[in-house]
Amino acid sequence: MKTVYFDNNATTKVADEVLEEMKPFFCDLYGNPSSMHTFGGQISRDIRRAREQVADLLGCDPAEIIFTGCGTESDNSAIKGTLAAQPNKRKVITSRVEHPAVLSVCRELQNLGYTVVELGVDKKGNLDLAELEEQIDDDTALVTIMYANNETGIIFPIEKIAELVKSRNTVFHTDAVQAVGKIPLNLSKNNIDLLSLSGHKLHAPKGVGALYVRKGTRLQPFMLGGHQEAGRRAGTENVPCIVGLGKACELAAKNIKKENEIVRHLRDKLENALLQNCPDCILNGDKKNRLPNTSNISFEYIEGEAILLMLDKYGICASSGSACTSGSLEPSHVLRAMGVPFTAAHGSIRFSLSRYNTEKEVDYTIQIMPQIVNRLRELSPFVKK
Ligand code: PLP
Repeated sequence: MKTVYFDNNATTKVADEVLEEMKPFFCDLYGNPSSMHTFGGQISRDIRRAREQVADLLGCDPAEIIFTGCGTESDNSAIKGTLAAQPNKRKVITSRVEHPAVLSVCRELQNLGYTVVELGVDKKGNLDLAELEEQIDDDTALVTIMYANNETGIIFPIEKIAELVKSRNTVFHTDAVQAVGKIPLNLSKNNIDLLSLSGHKLHAPKGVGALYVRKGTRLQPFMLGGHQEAGRRAGTENVPCIVGLGKACELAAKNIKKENEIVRHLRDKLENALLQNCPDCILNGDKKNRLPNTSNISFEYIEGEAILLMLDKYGICASSGSACTSGSLEPSHVLRAMGVPFTAAHGSIRFSLSRYNTEKEVDYTIQIMPQIVNRLRELSPFVKK
């Protein structure tokens, strides 16, 4: 049985072109880019090229890119590094629907005595910008709001938010881990100060990420040690993965528009058919304002985990809530923040597609899913028989 992979917000397949680009850096070009000899030193050229490829995708200067180990590290560095650079300010503003890579840091800060404001969202998952404006004061060191939500795909109006935060002389960070490679971004045209991305969400390998730091933004290094990344992130570079991330960004920059259309078509076909053919299910979040690859649907009266197990039997991979938090049966904090009722939040499934999905896979899932839902409803104590 071939796997049908609809869990691309959790992680993605490494693109063949990316793997090819990485291969020489394991056993042939394995030198340390910090070495004095040519064998190692020449590799700094490949890192430079990767930095340019990432910067091209984002519309920024290569010098504004720091390579990190993952999206979580980028988020942690951005938040902790910004606060360390402004020791007199003690307030952080974020949203209730952030990924744990941001929320856990903010909650730790709260324990350390910082004031942390978590902005709420409405039923469609949208933020109240007036509330954000009201909350920014002279004590605010940082506003950190995600670009696109990993569970619902909802895209926040980040350019507007960045402009607002800038007008109040405050630093703005966005966790764009789910946005980069899926929707076009242009940092030369907005006021974002810091942006996090992660390789494995855009067909590069796991174990590499990047942090964009706008020139002039004050940031205390998070990792201390050697002089790599111009002293902004110590640690010997993960050269194969950095090269892979560069290639993945080059591919995204070239193909993003065309791929968006294909992926959106497949997502819409899957979503429309499920909403039509499975009784008592609802789409979570704003239908328009979202990533083209993500669909989050609640199937009332049944458990998301039970649906996932049945899907798994048919070789179909999806997720309930965030993959990073699954393992606990708490309903998704994102859906709860949107006011999705407990029973519906428990029965939510996220389908997240990529350029590697096919029409055939979508048709197969459309055929299987109503059978699964009907079967589980027959077993459900919440359904009147
Ligand atoms: N931020 C968001 C929005 C995510 O979806 C994820 C991963 O799912 C992360 C951060 C963490 O990224 P990484 O897995 O690279 O640490």
